[in-house]
Amino acid sequence: MNHLYDVNNIFAKILRSEIPCKKILENNFTLAFSDINPQAPIHILVIPKNSYINFYDFTKNGSIKEHESFWKLVNEVIEHCKLESDGFRIITNSGNNGNQEVPHFHVHLLGGENLGRMIG
Ligand code: 5GP
Repeated sequence: MNHLYDVNNIFAKILRSEIPCKKILENNFTLAFSDINPQAPIHILVIPKNSYINFYDFTKNGSIKEHESFWKLVNEVIEHCKLESDGFRIITNSGNNGNQEVPHFHVHLLGGENLGRMIG
C-alpha cells in the first residue's frame, strides 16, 4: 500500500461497496463503472482494485498481472460498448496540473459522439 494513498477517496469507498456504482464489467484486478456526471453519451471509468494514486503510481508499482488485467478490461469495455469502429477517447488526469479530482488511478473512456478536439 502506498502510504500517501487516501483510503477514504470515493473510489476506495466504491471498491469496499460502501457506496454504489453502476458496474459495467470487472475482472480479478479491475473494475469498470459509469461516471456519475457523464461528459459524453458513453463515459465509463476503469480503475484497478488495488490502491494506486495515479497513472505514474500504477505503472511504476503495479504488477504485470494488474497491468495486463487493467488493459484487458479496457479492451472488453470498448467491445461491450461497441466503440471499436466509431472511436473513443481515453483520458487519465494526474495531480494538480492534471486536475485529478479522485486520487485513485482511473481512466475515463468516452464515446458515443464526436468528442471535438483534444483540449479546450
Ligand atoms: P478525475 O477528475 O479525478 O479524473 O475524475 C473523477 C471522476 O469521477 C469525475 O468524472 C466524476 O464525475 C467521477 N465521480 C466522482 N464521484 C463519483 C461517484 O461517487 N460515483 C461515480 N460513478 N463517479 C464519480
